[in-house]
Amino acid sequence: MYRVALGYDLHRLKIAKDSTVICGGIEIPCDLAIDGAHSDGDVIFHALTDALFSVVGKDIGVEFPNTDPQNLNRSSDEFLSCAFENIKNSYCIINIDIIVICDKPKISPYSLEIRKNIATLLQMDIEDITIRGKTTEQTNLLTIQAYTNVLFQKNKI
Ligand SMILES: [Zn+2]
Repeated sequence: MYRVALGYDLHRLKIAKDSTVICGGIEIPCDLAIDGAHSDGDVIFHALTDALFSVVGKDIGVEFPNTDPQNLNRSSDEFLSCAFENIKNSYCIINIDIIVICDKPKISPYSLEIRKNIATLLQMDIEDITIRGKTTEQTNLLTIQAYTNVLFQKNKI
């Protein structure tokens, strides 16, 4: 049996000279920074965590509430690893397709490194992970969003 899950995340950006925006575990140099995120604001890892929890009927907002001080500035690879622990006995991941929407930073120069990070965390082949960056056509300069589409196959027990 196959199941598909859509994950989503959005964070605000603020102008911040010589800063970085973390995306897919990579610190990307940028003159913008994540604004007001409780964690590190990694939209790719958060959207993936959202999709993985979804397939087992859980909600990232319930598992890691942004009101919990334990989640303050927490590295998002921990969220993703926790979600993976929740699914890995029941499902294997067939492929992941990711869209990141922001005018800055440009994602494509870092997509190989991001795919490597995800492949390691989720024990997948890098060929089964795709990432595309899109701009907002200058309609929304101060947000970064990610959509992740994840196809799962239920393990036979
Ligand atoms: Zn987030």
